[in-house]
Amino acid sequence: MKIRELFDKKTVFSFEIFPPKKTSSVDVIYKTLEELGDLSPDFISVTFSAGGSGNGSLSCEIASRIKDEYNITPMIHLPCINYTEDEILAVLNDLDKRGIENILALRGDINPDIEPKKHFRYASDLISFIKKHGDYDIAGACYPEGHIETENIVDDIKNLKHKVDMGADHLISQLFFDNNLFYSFLEKTAIAGINVPIEAGIMPVVNKNQIERMVGMCGASLPPKFVKIMQKFEHNPEALRDAGIAYAIDQIVDLVSSGVDGIHLYTMNNPYVAKRISEAVSGIIGNSK
Ligand code: FAD
Repeated sequence: MKIRELFDKKTVFSFEIFPPKKTSSVDVIYKTLEELGDLSPDFISVTFSAGGSGNGSLSCEIASRIKDEYNITPMIHLPCINYTEDEILAVLNDLDKRGIENILALRGDINPDIEPKKHFRYASDLISFIKKHGDYDIAGACYPEGHIETENIVDDIKNLKHKVDMGADHLISQLFFDNNLFYSFLEKTAIAGINVPIEAGIMPVVNKNQIERMVGMCGASLPPKFVKIMQKFEHNPEALRDAGIAYAIDQIVDLVSSGVDGIHLYTMNNPYVAKRISEAVSGIIGNSK
């Protein structure tokens, strides 16, 4: 099933997971998937390392299991910056054999220790390449507060429009904690003529390290309400977890009430948190269209 077909019918609710680190057992992710699968998301996306280290085959393997064992539509992330055209073609062949037709086409972060392969400079280059090589559902990433390398939000939006013009069927946003920033981003995309569905990326923050790591990586701004909660409970893990879950639920209720196309939950491979959020919002999402 192609994910783009869902948006006309419902508010899409999807999960994101990542493959286990090389030092952990792969069985951990299958145990996680068993629990996530019970929550029946519309699709589950699997991240893929931009490092060119070859662990992408594990991402494809996990995506296959999502489809074949849990009967859920999978999406594979595919970052291109450190891959050649032939390497991307090999991944597409692998996806065809596995019957996986949904791809989140990405540039990937530039790693100062790895010389980019120069076949693909931007995600839009990958999107037009994928389009030439098959009938896939292609998603792209977007950044409500601007991509971290961008000096100018206007250029970022123009680049996003180009990405959609090259064939992105829908978009998934970077995480954010201030819904007003997302609404303002939606206005900018509408003015720019970007009219594909945009899912809102929500990350429940359930421990202090996660906040520092995530904000450092993506530069999401932290509204005063969020900072107050995190400061109040930073030394009480259980309270911080519950407050993080409540904050994410609050964001989702507001977004769905405002008519967003979908919610993409960064599960951090934590089925307990995904379950609490899914159960809290299932009636709202299920009755929103
Ligand atoms: P692009 O769309 O290529 O944009 C990158 C930068 O280049 C932006 O600043 C943009 O404004 C600029 N730009 C784009 N086109 C042009 C142009 N034609 N001319 C000039 N400038 C241009 N990374 C991974 O490695 N693996 C993952 O699995 C992964 N999953 C992700 C999932 C989501 C939902 C998101 C939001 C991000 C994910 N990332 C992942 C991170 C992503 O790879 C990085 O954010 C990366 O830095 C940018 O990727 P992109 O596809 O958005 O790049």
